[in-house]
Amino acid sequence: MMKKIAALLALCGIVLGTTSFYSPIVVQKPTIRTIILDAGHGGIDPGTHGLISKEKDVTLEITLKLGEAIKKEFPEIKIVYTRTTDILPGNAATKNQGLYNRAQIANEAKGDLFLCIHCDATPKPAGGYYEKRVIGHKKKLEYVGKGKHKRKKMVNAPIYESYWVKNTMIGATTYIWKADRSGTKGNAIDQTGEGEDIEDSTIVWDTESPEARIRAQLYEQKYFKKSVMMASYVEDEFEKTGRKTWGVKQRAIGLHVLENTGMPSVLIETGYLTNKEEEEYLNSDKGQDEVVTNIMDALKRYKQSLEGNKPTPTSINGPSK
Ligand SMILES: [Zn+2]
Repeated sequence: MMKKIAALLALCGIVLGTTSFYSPIVVQKPTIRTIILDAGHGGIDPGTHGLISKEKDVTLEITLKLGEAIKKEFPEIKIVYTRTTDILPGNAATKNQGLYNRAQIANEAKGDLFLCIHCDATPKPAGGYYEKRVIGHKKKLEYVGKGKHKRKKMVNAPIYESYWVKNTMIGATTYIWKADRSGTKGNAIDQTGEGEDIEDSTIVWDTESPEARIRAQLYEQKYFKKSVMMASYVEDEFEKTGRKTWGVKQRAIGLHVLENTGMPSVLIETGYLTNKEEEEYLNSDKGQDEVVTNIMDALKRYKQSLEGNKPTPTSINGPSK
């Protein structure tokens, strides 16, 4: 009997001992559950163009390839596209409505990361253009004066030459934004007026109002740092491939999409369509695959960084020694 009791007590001890060590399994919340992929422009809004392509087509091709790459590498991550065909998101009739829809789609899907894909352009014509320059002077007879004062005079006239100027601007730039999940999205869009282009908007976001400041403070810590981190990785990966990069920039104006998405948001200008070679690169499978690989490598680093900051999951047997 005593033996039985002793055995029972011992068993209790084991059970209690085990229980005291027991801590519930901490299932690590995935750091990135949903990624919003936003192909710039679309439909009636072609964006910029080069010699052989329009921005809306190039951004869509790259975005769809990026989505496939993420699906393959991280099948657990949900991909939400703002568009998968040549339309403005949500079949919007205006660019502004399209911008609104982009943010709306992102916020409704509760994205953890918002990636916009764009292509850059200079104000000068794609490929190149002719300019005139003075290459010398020649003596020339000209009439000067008026009426009866009119007389002939030898003047030094410039000799012009037309010459071809190649549009040499190349490189990738990544833009970040302070995010916002407040209810002012509609207002923010309404303030901008019709027909604003995402690239050359002159609308200034009112960051001076008290509520805007509070919002900025609230979301800055949460999303801004993450956006900077992702953007830096993207630029870094471009650079590793040998691409010209212009670094991480903050645009004070125009990027409504990034302003209105309540999540870390990054806009990637993948290169200049106005440069012949870079346009060919961005239209080629090789170029598009490289850009996608760069963004994927950046995403892997970003994900690792986020996960590295979290405590490691606790096992059922207590913390490992
Ligand atoms: Zn664009």
